[in-house]
Amino acid sequence: MPSPSSYDAIILGAGAAGLFCAAIAGQRGKRVLVIDHADAPGKKILISGGGRCNFTNVHTQADRYISANPHFAKSALGRYSPQDFIDLVDAYGIAWHEKTLGQLFCDGSAKQIVAVLLEECAKGSVTIALGHAIRAVDHADGRYRVSWGDRSAEAPALVIATGGPSIPKMGATGIAYDLARQFGLKVVEPRPALVPLTLGGDETLFRSLSGVATEVVARAGKALFREAALFTHKGLSGPAILQVSSYWRHGDPVAIDFLPDAAPGWLTLAKRQQPRATVRSMLGALLPDRLAATLSERIGGGDGRLADTPDRVLGEAEKRLSGWTFHPNGTEGYAKAEVTAGGIGTDGLSSQTMAARKVPGLYAIGEAVDVTGWLGGYNFQWAWASAHAAGTAI
Ligand SMILES: Cc1cc2nc3c(=O)[nH]c(=O)nc-3n(C[C@H](O)[C@H](O)[C@H](O)COP(=O)(O)OP(=O)(O)OC[C@H]3O[C@@H](n4cnc5c(N)ncnc54)[C@H](O)[C@@H]3O)c2cc1C
Repeated sequence: MPSPSSYDAIILGAGAAGLFCAAIAGQRGKRVLVIDHADAPGKKILISGGGRCNFTNVHTQADRYISANPHFAKSALGRYSPQDFIDLVDAYGIAWHEKTLGQLFCDGSAKQIVAVLLEECAKGSVTIALGHAIRAVDHADGRYRVSWGDRSAEAPALVIATGGPSIPKMGATGIAYDLARQFGLKVVEPRPALVPLTLGGDETLFRSLSGVATEVVARAGKALFREAALFTHKGLSGPAILQVSSYWRHGDPVAIDFLPDAAPGWLTLAKRQQPRATVRSMLGALLPDRLAATLSERIGGGDGRLADTPDRVLGEAEKRLSGWTFHPNGTEGYAKAEVTAGGIGTDGLSSQTMAARKVPGLYAIGEAVDVTGWLGGYNFQWAWASAHAAGTAI
């Protein structure tokens, strides 16, 4: 076997965080090697945002991230902002638009973002090695040695940027956690996040609504999101559900307000104004028809005239419609999770540099770390910001 090549830094993972970190360090004059087992870089970027990459969110702030330490992300996010990444995208003349809620997408294709990252890496003379599994990572005499395929390389700095295990068919693995443990870092238990929830038991009846979507307020614990919810053949999905899924724990209920704009007392008011109407017909005017039918059926008495329905019963119906409680029996798992929550514990890392406090030269960035953003460009912004923090510190 040839003797190991020597670099200033080896970055494991040619995804969003790894490539950006490599570009920054490389452009600072560092000799950087990026290693990835995939046959192409940035594969998750290519499938992100429906192929248009929701590359940042203009409303980025630390309270839109989930972490055992909610303050950890502040420093990196504060030093590399959405505007900084927008400036980079603009410098390449890439057209973009705000879709909704501060979410910025390419007008064209996610390929443009990968092309920016590769061009930035080229400017920094970064070497990218693809297509071979990492065989071993060792640390001795202040140097990290990484072996992959039939090659090996050494450097005084090692960056873990291998993301989390969501979407294994894209090449995602939990190697970040194995490496973290190897070097004595704690791992906050990983779990699928931004993931559809599944319904069982009595609630399997709702699966017949598969394909029906409506705007709701969804709640899990203290988290609350107003966006679309979608019924699926397995349970619940859509942005509102994906958002609350990141906060949801097994056994928790998810409450849904199907009529977030309805004023309290709207059904009793309707009784005075439209006595011949029914709960079913009132719902039919406000919600997709199949959903209106299912909800009024479950409430019971939905076909009776409002005039004949006691105010108390109408009040109870309102209450159910504004806080319909589902009891998900699980999630669709890593196969369908857009991200992984949990990960390398932030207490072992510097929030300024992403360096491991007790292991000189070791860094962790991106989704591998226990920082998980909301849906809507927040996860890429964390990838850029944490990569920037490490890339300027190496
Ligand atoms: C379908 C989908 C759509 C998404 N859309 C968006 C969006 O629009 N906006 C947004 O902000 N976020 C989105 N995300 C989340 C976003 O893609 C991730 O948060 C982001 O890619 C994390 O960047 P990363 O560099 O940390 O990890 P990744 O981009 O996952 O990169 C990790 C790299 O490490 C490599 N790797 C893994 N294991 C090994 C191993 N054992 N050996 C060698 N290499 C390894 C992988 O091949 C990969 O290239 C989406 C995710 C999915 C799945």
